[in-house]
Amino acid sequence: MITVITFNPSIDRLYKLDTFEIGMVQRASFVNPTAGGKGLNVAKVIKQLGENPRCLGFLGGYNGLYIKNELNKAGIVNNFTEIDGESRICLNIIDGDKNSTEILEKGPNINEKNILDFESKLDKVLENSKVLVASGSLSQGMPVDYYKRLGKICEKKGVKFILDTSGKSLEMAINENLYLIKPNIDELELLTHKKINNKEDAINASRFLLEKGVKNVCISMGKDGMIFLNKEHIYDVKIPKIEILNTVGSGDSSIAGFAYGVINDYSWEECLKLANSCGMSNALYMETGYINKKDIKTFSNEIKVSKYNLDS
Ligand code: ADP
Repeated sequence: MITVITFNPSIDRLYKLDTFEIGMVQRASFVNPTAGGKGLNVAKVIKQLGENPRCLGFLGGYNGLYIKNELNKAGIVNNFTEIDGESRICLNIIDGDKNSTEILEKGPNINEKNILDFESKLDKVLENSKVLVASGSLSQGMPVDYYKRLGKICEKKGVKFILDTSGKSLEMAINENLYLIKPNIDELELLTHKKINNKEDAINASRFLLEKGVKNVCISMGKDGMIFLNKEHIYDVKIPKIEILNTVGSGDSSIAGFAYGVINDYSWEECLKLANSCGMSNALYMETGYINKKDIKTFSNEIKVSKYNLDS
């Protein structure tokens, strides 16, 4: 089973306006609320691929109930820890010129008791999990080294830990049994304190992460595909050009592709084709965390994966 953690889920409300003028009363021509947060996007795509993921994390208040209800409607099994605060709402306002303005709440505070409640659920769920995915930032009030702690828990239980986060909490976790991380170029620069100008720089920076103990490093590069490294090989993934509509959630969709591939014992070539196809398919639609199986089939045939020995 795949377990997916989202510590700070949100109701993502998309508003479309003809014009967006500061200081004026605005009327929305279209409103679309969805259950969001990086981990929930991952879970939605895993479900569409045909696995039944289990979601954990924190939910609270009416917003929390809304999110839970949306997951139940989508048939996504969830066992969130209830908290006193209110889960957040994030706004994305798109005007007639397709400019996007986002307003993101920080989300509720988590206390020690919430963390203990979460860990007792996690402990049970991990007994039946082969893969744990944690995506997105920690909640307010959580210790910054919490993902490092999750790495330790996974190591003890023999669970493959895929971590998709950034900043200090990722930096603190990298020598803690991480099975796979997927920084983009900006995140890789932050993590390694190096400027990345080309693929060669990205490969050298990733070697540093392998030396720290990360087992597999994937650098996602938007329209330029991916580079993937482990102790044995480098994989260079080239993808076809497509007409995109909305790339928000493409990174989460590729994480879903990796998790699906790993649980189904795919080779790395197959995993990379699936991960990129999922990211690309998501980019074709307005909805975040939506993929289409027909696209996956088409793109998988068009994506080229080249494999090299690490020291070549
Ligand atoms: P993140 O959202 O984490 O920054 P990326 O933007 O690199 O991740 O997207 C993840 C994957 O989604 C890419 O490796 C690629 O396969 C696909 N993708 C993202 N943006 C595009 C794009 N503009 N054109 C084609 N594919 C894309």
